[in-house]
Amino acid sequence: MAGLATAVRMASRGHEVTVFEANTYPGGKLSEIRLGGYRFDAGPSLFTMPMYIDELYTLAAPEKTPRLPYERLPVVCHYFWEDGTRLKAYGDPVAFSKEVEAVLGEPAGRVLQALEDSRFKYEATGRIFLERSLHRLETWLSRSVAKALPKIPRLDLFSSMDRVNRRFFTQPKMVQLFNRYATYNGSNPYKAPGLLNIIPHFEYHFGAYYPQGGMVAITRHLMDLAEEKGAQFHFGKCVDRIEVQNGRAEGFWVDGQLHRYDRVISNMDVFFTYRKLLPDQPAPARTLRQEKSTSALIFYWGIRRAFPELDLHNIFFSDDYRAEFAHLARGEVYADPTIYINISQKCDPADAPEGSENWFTMINVPFDSGQDWDTLIAQAREQILRKVSRMLGTDISALIECEDVLDPRTIESRTGSHLGALYGTSSNNRMAAFVRHANFSHKIRDLYFVGGSVHPGGGIPLALLSARIVDELIFL
Ligand SMILES: Cc1cc2nc3c(=O)[nH]c(=O)nc-3n(C[C@H](O)[C@H](O)[C@H](O)COP(=O)(O)OP(=O)(O)OC[C@H]3O[C@@H](n4cnc5c(N)ncnc54)[C@H](O)[C@@H]3O)c2cc1C
Repeated sequence: MAGLATAVRMASRGHEVTVFEANTYPGGKLSEIRLGGYRFDAGPSLFTMPMYIDELYTLAAPEKTPRLPYERLPVVCHYFWEDGTRLKAYGDPVAFSKEVEAVLGEPAGRVLQALEDSRFKYEATGRIFLERSLHRLETWLSRSVAKALPKIPRLDLFSSMDRVNRRFFTQPKMVQLFNRYATYNGSNPYKAPGLLNIIPHFEYHFGAYYPQGGMVAITRHLMDLAEEKGAQFHFGKCVDRIEVQNGRAEGFWVDGQLHRYDRVISNMDVFFTYRKLLPDQPAPARTLRQEKSTSALIFYWGIRRAFPELDLHNIFFSDDYRAEFAHLARGEVYADPTIYINISQKCDPADAPEGSENWFTMINVPFDSGQDWDTLIAQAREQILRKVSRMLGTDISALIECEDVLDPRTIESRTGSHLGALYGTSSNNRMAAFVRHANFSHKIRDLYFVGGSVHPGGGIPLALLSARIVDELIFL
């Protein structure tokens, strides 16, 4: 995603841009798979901050039509608990707060207060921590930093997300629902700082969206835009090594041939950029040793039945969230995992045959540290099927028509994510934002880094922002 956005930006500035992609298809994590009559988005399923895509059109081709078509979701997520409680999280904050009061007994005012806290944190820090390079003196001397300093005591840097959520909510289900936002960047709500409570602001203020044609439409539209601006793409071409001469990136090697460029921008996971492409250069060991974000285990299931009680995004909560994250922290998969089911067929009926649904069924799992994944996958499959069947009152295993699986090992082999982490490094540490790798090399001139493994972090919006930061570093 960041590579595509960077290609659009660089080509729009009038540069000759060439993209080398190891896979035979574009998009990295944001691609699709097809099984029988079913289509699935392979990775990301939640689309927030579409303005970062719109911004690329504004820069590259303001008059261009059609642009990526997307619509705001009236209901962000359907939540299910084992005791039969079901909650529709409306995208409109007031409607959401009323639903929470009616279903969970948590006063609507508390929900609005928590969302207000989220807004405050975003406005105090978003511009600094997410939109600027933290590795340039200019950022720290800017007026926005001076304005943010007095607000530090209200940013909850020294409390965990869980603690902050318990301050706002009396109902454990509401604490659990807000704790879940830690998983949006692969973190642990019992460790990650309360500052991460800015995440609900993305969903309830800016909104959750669905791009027509599925998430992969984002990839296709950005690729079209980059090509229209003259960027050239080479697929199935793995970059083997970056050529460094006299402290400057001169180009890189592909299939034994040196390609020379004025600048090199790597969208490869920064860990592998150093280990594989820059083996002779000193690597920032501490940065590369940071704890990884969680990974995921996904079952793509073609389901031969329609479930009107399900929507695009559905969560079946674990009964003991704290235990689930304690297991993840130890590198284990919990026996009663929280299950996320995404069904794009609800928005794009052609994604599944008539009367059927395409279930992207995902649980959080630890990053790969050599676990016996084949055994864990078989166990998790049973546990997921038992839990969802129990909670929906239907034997799901009998309805599975086709199946594919993605696990931490294949996430690494297909997209080059170190240890299969979904979002680069975790944000469990309060210093995480400051110790992610910069978007440029301090030691090698004309070498830049974009994507989820570097500043400002993982997830589509932040990957798009990394491209914007590099654009600004080079041109402004
Ligand atoms: C299962 C899953 C679910 C997710 N859910 C969400 C979600 O709902 N919402 C959200 O916002 N984010 C989500 N994310 C995170 C999001 O997908 C990523 O943060 C984002 O897509 C990362 O983009 P990137 O630019 O870092 O590149 P990546 O997608 O990591 O792509 C890197 C590309 O570089 C290529 N490459 C690597 N090495 C080389 C080389 N040597 N030569 C040439 N090419 C190379 C790879 O083939 C790949 O195409 C999810 C991720 C996964 C895996």
